[in-house]
Amino acid sequence: MGRSLPTVAIVGRPNVGKSTLMNRILGRREAIVAEQPGVTRDRKEMPASWQGREFTVVDTGGWLPQGAGDNASMDAKVSAQSEKSMDDADVVVLVVDSQAGITGDDEGVAGRLRGRPGPVLVAVNKVDDEVHENLIWEFIGLGLGDPFPVSALHGRGVGDLLDAVMAELPEEWAKGAQAGAEAEAETASESGTDAHMVSVSIVGRPNAGKSTLFNRLIGDDRSVVHDQPGTTRDAIDTVVETELGPIRFVDTAGMRRRARIDQATEYYSLLRALAAVDRSDIALLVVDATVGVTHQDQRLAERIDGAGCPIVVLLNKWDMLDTEAREAIALDIDHRLHFLGDAAVLRVSALSGKGLNRLLPELRGVIAEYRRRIPTQAVNRVLRDAQAAHPAPDGARVLYATQGAADPPTFTLFANRTLPRTYLRYLERRFREAFDLGSVPVKLRVRRRSGE
Ligand code: GDP
Ligand code: GDP
Repeated sequence: MGRSLPTVAIVGRPNVGKSTLMNRILGRREAIVAEQPGVTRDRKEMPASWQGREFTVVDTGGWLPQGAGDNASMDAKVSAQSEKSMDDADVVVLVVDSQAGITGDDEGVAGRLRGRPGPVLVAVNKVDDEVHENLIWEFIGLGLGDPFPVSALHGRGVGDLLDAVMAELPEEWAKGAQAGAEAEAETASESGTDAHMVSVSIVGRPNAGKSTLFNRLIGDDRSVVHDQPGTTRDAIDTVVETELGPIRFVDTAGMRRRARIDQATEYYSLLRALAAVDRSDIALLVVDATVGVTHQDQRLAERIDGAGCPIVVLLNKWDMLDTEAREAIALDIDHRLHFLGDAAVLRVSALSGKGLNRLLPELRGVIAEYRRRIPTQAVNRVLRDAQAAHPAPDGARVLYATQGAADPPTFTLFANRTLPRTYLRYLERRFREAFDLGSVPVKLRVRRRSGE
């Protein structure tokens, strides 16, 4: 078959709702859904479209029924054909079941997908209402980025998922697909050297001062090179010319124009921030110093840190604090953000610009360090090989790893349980060999993931 359209493969173990999701994407209610779990199906390919873009959805059937395959290896469970659709697809959507949590099969297939060069999105299905949205966080443990909550049955969240899928389709498909998108697509292709441009996200709670900060950073607009379409339709990045070279500020929609698109709830602003963090090399966490470090600030910081993204904390609205409050927030930072170690904390006033002169020098240091980093995919390849050659005892497993800091090289390992010291030494040796780290000290930090 000549590949005329980009393909999106839907994968996952039986009964998570792949067929239901596929029907939802196709916009039909055809009776593809089988009520019995895991009915073996052939690979189905269907033409679909979203926001004017056409693509082919591939439903990878061909898994063994649940139960029958419990003792089989992953190889035996996934048919050659499913495997091929995963390899061939431009984008893979891994569907998991929010009600079931991460199962061994989910982990198995996620492990395969982590080795894939192309994009993979995790759809956490059966999130039928807002109450269940917190179930999605566990699935970060799959090591495939931030999950999308969806309800295939009710259509909830499917639009956002499709927006993200569209953003991952190859460039040629993006061009000219939407009326009016042409100009944007052109600007995007003009900057062919983007691969090395540093991306910075500005995140924080609503009202922390992100827009004020951003507007101050771009000054009178003359430094703005151009806007670029981001992941979702309304996510616009802004490229700013600085003395450090061009920097891309991620998802600045709604920051530049003071007219806010949405009064997003805290929850959606969190999701949005996490998506921005995933696309950035460095995150600026803006904390409203008049409020202090809140639970959400803490959560954001943890996620940024967990994603291996260096962080600069900006304690904003410093101008409004009296001495007592200044002391209180210093303690707050120590208590609540202690895990950030020696991340820079700058006291600033975005409104007056005070303290912001320290930001660029700080970024310069972080960028230099960042450039010495080993790509996450390479880290995970070594990790996978090391674990395959010599698994940890007692079912302990590292699900995912990132290089959290460069000097000294520090790897954060997300593991399902505590790893014995000897095993950590083994992994350290493997990293050292693979990345030619010589005698440089290598630090390993272990974070517990599943069951969180
Ligand atoms: P597949 O084996 O992965 O293709 O799963 P199916 O699409 O056949 O769905 C398995 C079962 O989950 C069916 O009974 C569906 O009705 C149910 N299901 C699918 N999506 C949802 C959802 O979003 N919410 C709920 N509550 N049930 C769902
Ligand atoms: P965002 O929701 O994070 O984008 O926050 P905004 O940038 O819209 O700021 C929220 C409010 O805080 C606005 O009224 C700003 O004027 C105010 N604000 C932002 N930064 C500062 C600051 O450094 N000092 C003071 N006093 N107010 C600030």
